Amino acid sequence: MTTSPNARLDAFMARLVERNPGEPEFHQAVHEVAHSVMPYIEAHPKYAKANVLERLTEPDRAIVFRVTWQDDDGNIRVNKAYRVQFNNAIGPYKGGLRFHPSVNLGVLKFLGFEQVFKNSLTGLPMGGAKGGSDFDPKGKSDDEVMRFCHAMMTELWRHIGKDTDVPAGDIGVGAREVGYLFGQYKRLQNQWGGVLTGKSIDYGGSLIRTEATGYGTVYFVQEMLQRLGESCEGKTAVVSGSGNVATYTIEKLLHLGAKPLTASDSGGFIYDPDGIDEEKLAWIEELKTVRRGRISEYAKEFGCEYFEGQRPWGIKADLAFPSATQNELNESDAKALVKNGVQAIGEGANMPTTPDGVKVFQDAKILYGLGKAANAGGVAVSGLEQSQNSLRLSWTREEVDERLKAIMASIHAKCVEYGYDGDHVDYVKGANTAGFVKIADSVIAYGVM
Ligand code: NDP
Repeated sequence: MTTSPNARLDAFMARLVERNPGEPEFHQAVHEVAHSVMPYIEAHPKYAKANVLERLTEPDRAIVFRVTWQDDDGNIRVNKAYRVQFNNAIGPYKGGLRFHPSVNLGVLKFLGFEQVFKNSLTGLPMGGAKGGSDFDPKGKSDDEVMRFCHAMMTELWRHIGKDTDVPAGDIGVGAREVGYLFGQYKRLQNQWGGVLTGKSIDYGGSLIRTEATGYGTVYFVQEMLQRLGESCEGKTAVVSGSGNVATYTIEKLLHLGAKPLTASDSGGFIYDPDGIDEEKLAWIEELKTVRRGRISEYAKEFGCEYFEGQRPWGIKADLAFPSATQNELNESDAKALVKNGVQAIGEGANMPTTPDGVKVFQDAKILYGLGKAANAGGVAVSGLEQSQNSLRLSWTREEVDERLKAIMASIHAKCVEYGYDGDHVDYVKGANTAGFVKIADSVIAYGVM
């Protein structure tokens, strides 16, 4: 009896959900990839014979541990921490650490799974992993954050290494946290090595790493537009978030002559019809990284509107950059953007659009740059940071930026190669299939393991 591809996809997903109960974000991430690559697997039976998809959706291992630390009042506090080492077929595990109360095993499995494909797309030898903790750095003193990071690394250090697993930042983990984590690793291992990326320039960081995810996302959108004879210049943009990815997305949009209109945090968003310029952006960066304040303060400072508890997708713009968190853009948000004539989406965040929202973009045939392709610039420059650490060299800002641009152009080209159907480019299919082929071929080459 023959079964249809859809029935095979449903059966595959039913088994996955049964094996991984209560992990909706992981199910969502796998479904997107499985849906994209199923036709390719059907056309190339060696992948089905080797059961590659099933093997790629089970992490190599997941480490779960307790972090005990002391707050400023002397109370003993306990958090849960994780490292999901998803797949190292094409290189040492690589992926960020997230500190946020919403962190759980399912969220990190979704992020680790996405990371495997993203890292494959960069063309660099990096496997995929993700880690983090339900620790919330918001409202904590620098000393508390330091004690937490030191305590977390006291367990994590034995599982990572420059040729084993190289973590980096993500939500809630920026330069301050990476400094504390790296310091403790160095102390415990008595070895200075490129075991974390996103380090400060003073001790082994790469120029452009801080900017790379945001810059790379805009480069990717520029590539999509240029293919159609257009560019970012003169276009308006809605951006969500006001952290690392959002601020450098806004900066690169300004470099390319676009006009960013919005920024947000978990409290709401600001809409500045005059545009967020360099000066206002510097103010946001100071607000978020030094004073650690709320985006609502921008509205008071610059006299514009603040929309409490809302997201910016109802604002009319040519380009949209979801740069905060997963599932922050749903079906009705996507419909509002399309109705307002949006031309391109660049996902700085990981999986920010719900599946219904993605369908709206795909049906409207707008340029939809999904996260694992569009935001791969961050991990790509992390890879370049590792290279510089190994070479004991520091490349110039221009050199790193040129490499980043070339990597984003090459990711775009792979998406077109695997996603062009003679009429338009399906970037979801293109990115997932291109990422899959390289890992799948490596997995098969190793034999049964
Ligand atoms: P940051 O912590 O620097 O900033 C996160 C921003 O998103 C903040 O403005 C934060 O607001 C907002 N945010 C976080 N959670 C929520 C939520 N549940 N609802 C609404 N707003 C929220 O993180 P990054 O900029 O580094 O990361 C942003 C996204 O980009 C994430 O999806 C991350 O996985 C992805 N990414 C990051 C990379 C990197 O290099 N940093 C690389 C590739 C992808 P608030 O301060 O109020 O919480």
